[in-house]
Amino acid sequence: MMNDLSLYVHIPFCARKCRYCDFTSFPAPPGRIGEYMQALRSELADAGDEYGELRLNTIYIGGGTPTYIDTSYIARLCELIFEIMDVSPDAEISIECNPGSTDRNKLEVYRGAGINRLSIGAQSVNDNELTLLGRIHDSTDLFRTYEDARDAGFDNINIDLMSAIPGQTLSTYEHSLRTICELGPEHISAYSLQLEEGTYLYEHRDEFEFTDEDTDREMYHMTADVLGEYGYRRYEISNYSGPGYECRHNIVYWTGGDYLGIGLGAASLIDNVRYKNTEELLRYLSGERAIESILLSADDRKEEFMFLGLRMICGISCEEFKLRFGKDIDEVYGEVIRDMTGMGMLIREGDHIRLSDPGLDVCNYVLSGFML
Ligand code: SF4
Repeated sequence: MMNDLSLYVHIPFCARKCRYCDFTSFPAPPGRIGEYMQALRSELADAGDEYGELRLNTIYIGGGTPTYIDTSYIARLCELIFEIMDVSPDAEISIECNPGSTDRNKLEVYRGAGINRLSIGAQSVNDNELTLLGRIHDSTDLFRTYEDARDAGFDNINIDLMSAIPGQTLSTYEHSLRTICELGPEHISAYSLQLEEGTYLYEHRDEFEFTDEDTDREMYHMTADVLGEYGYRRYEISNYSGPGYECRHNIVYWTGGDYLGIGLGAASLIDNVRYKNTEELLRYLSGERAIESILLSADDRKEEFMFLGLRMICGISCEEFKLRFGKDIDEVYGEVIRDMTGMGMLIREGDHIRLSDPGLDVCNYVLSGFML
């Protein structure tokens, strides 16, 4: 039985849908925000009955756009979490923020409610790229939000950046990277655009010129080089931070820790069972929650341990593998570890196995070797 828990809370509403987005998010149907927050509080209260004695070390309020809804909803949500759950005094409490729907006052309310980490969805500092992505903000909004966040007392800020945006060049991407580094957030997440079915960009893919694979690779390398130059340390394939500012919530996901997801479409992993909430708003509002629960087999868990753990730059601990699964890692994965280290894709040092630089470049290929 677990002792610690992380909490994810999903706010699905956005001012409008971005062109690349396939998350559970949409403009709020009239009058539904209040109803949704009521349903969310009720799900949370039930979770409090079940898990209230467990210590919450990280909380993440994501979306959607949590900053889109009235701040009083977020303040009440935080109040309820503190009331019914055992929140660790040094818990990392993050909220996602869209520069187009944030102001100083909102940020102050969040700080006052106990939120201590802000994740700003910037994506780019180039206004043409932001327009192409269908974002509601421009670069001026971003700079203002960043300044407001510092003034409101946020001393742990993440900025999300995106590469491989149609029309983006190496030079405009480098400009975004350097501009963000100059701002000096504690954490930067840098992902390349994924073309997902059902999105506007996917449906209109013939109208856009997408980044070719070589340029995508060059951007990927540029990210590590430029962020390294500014002193950011890569600790996961796409995540960089200053010392001590790694995102504790995401590390729980990557290291197979237990987490509870509350809200529309939210996923949980508790005692090796994966739950998934309904993605249909009306069903959620009528009280329906988890529609799926899957007990992970021992093989599923071993695979996840390797797939997610190897995304971390420090890699996985062989001792931890043995502790969790009662087997020596070489008994299960000896052959693939030998092959991949022989090819220079993996590095084995003491108790740890990690991806090498060439291995990071082709991580999907390396990780696929760990399927059982
Ligand atoms: S703001 Fe975020 S969640 Fe909302 S539509 Fe855009 S990418 Fe999706």
